[in-house]
Amino acid sequence: MCNNIRVRFAPSPTGNVHIGNIRAAIFNWLFARHTGGKFLLRVEDTDLERSTPEAIKTLLESMEWLKLDYDEPVVYQTANVNEHLKAARKLLDSGHAYKSDKGGKGECIIFKMPSEGRLEYNDLVKGRMRKKAEDTQDFVIVRSDGSPVFHLANVVDDILQGITHVIRGDDHVENTFKHIELFKALGAQPPAYAHLPMIVNNMGKPYSKRDGSAFVGEFREQGYLPDALFNFLLLLGWAPGDDREIMSREEMIKAFSLDRCKASAARFDLKKLRWMNGEYIAAMPKDEFKKEFLRRVSDAGIPTEPLGCTVDDVIVPVQPRTKTFGDIPANCIYFFTEDYPFSEAAVAKRLKQPEAGRILEETASRFESIHDFTEEAAEDVIKELAEKYGGMGAVVHPVRVAVSGVSEGPGLFEMLRLIGKERTIARLRRAIPQTAL
Ligand code: GLU
Repeated sequence: MCNNIRVRFAPSPTGNVHIGNIRAAIFNWLFARHTGGKFLLRVEDTDLERSTPEAIKTLLESMEWLKLDYDEPVVYQTANVNEHLKAARKLLDSGHAYKSDKGGKGECIIFKMPSEGRLEYNDLVKGRMRKKAEDTQDFVIVRSDGSPVFHLANVVDDILQGITHVIRGDDHVENTFKHIELFKALGAQPPAYAHLPMIVNNMGKPYSKRDGSAFVGEFREQGYLPDALFNFLLLLGWAPGDDREIMSREEMIKAFSLDRCKASAARFDLKKLRWMNGEYIAAMPKDEFKKEFLRRVSDAGIPTEPLGCTVDDVIVPVQPRTKTFGDIPANCIYFFTEDYPFSEAAVAKRLKQPEAGRILEETASRFESIHDFTEEAAEDVIKELAEKYGGMGAVVHPVRVAVSGVSEGPGLFEMLRLIGKERTIARLRRAIPQTAL
């Protein structure tokens, strides 16, 4: 395999790292790792208002969190401004660019696009791309204040860094026609291009922060694991060609190729991400899960000692059911305190029922006579009552909501055993007033 391959991730730091951008980083990284090439990071920090040190820090942290390591020191675009201007002068000298003072605001440098014929390139994802020269326009490469424009800086840096493949979002397809002409005018071989499909929402529109979480930092905060987010983003625009979805880094590196990238838009499916994250959480070593579990519980201001059992006991049923760490406090609070909130929807659906009060009282009094409060013993009681009240659901649901405040959670009998007999009975009775219609 050819190992002269050099790719780069070239974000413009803004303080937030959009998932569409980091997906480009992931594809570049995997391409480099698969081919044995080099993966570089170039910070396009020429917009001095947005590219603050904090914005750059956020970017670097996101890269590190996702384990996107790069093979050479970071290149900051602002450090190359002299090279950009040198290239502009070269273009002026060779007649590829001219000066103009169109708006009367001072002279800027403009790059000449071809005026006839057809511009074409072969996109490794999108196929043959064409544009009539007459549909293109000359464009500014150096502003009247002397600062280089994105197109020039981007191309000159790609030349300086010896980039062989540009893998980026398809919002840059139009720019590519300009960039290729710049490469040629500067006497450089244009790189190969691969434009990744847009990430879209349910309506097929570009996925933005209005649709939900869109930044790496938000997913991190909500308790997504970096490996799960990485895996999910890889499948937004790429597929291994078999039915694998969960893949290890090694498997991804082995399977990755640009010709498996999809050209059509990739729909962001939060349900799938939650499912995938749940799979990664379930597979975590127990002590790692426990550490994060306790951190989330304590950050939420909940005491970290469960009432009737140990943290390890609680984790057994909770770990395989957790979709994100952010869900933990709300899903588990009843293990730690009597002061757990009741979901309004769950109360309306399960407790505001004609017989719910009687069911809770009867369950409580039958539990009182159980000597050894095992899962089987609790189940026997509930089954008997289920016969009387028309089915398991009629009893299980109100009991669950009464003792936990929510309608979903671990298996009911396991949960009751962990909460303990006396506490369960007290909770059932305490919830009875809430059943009043
Ligand atoms: N800074 C540009 C962006 O973030 C770079 C695009 C590219 O990869 O060439 O969109």
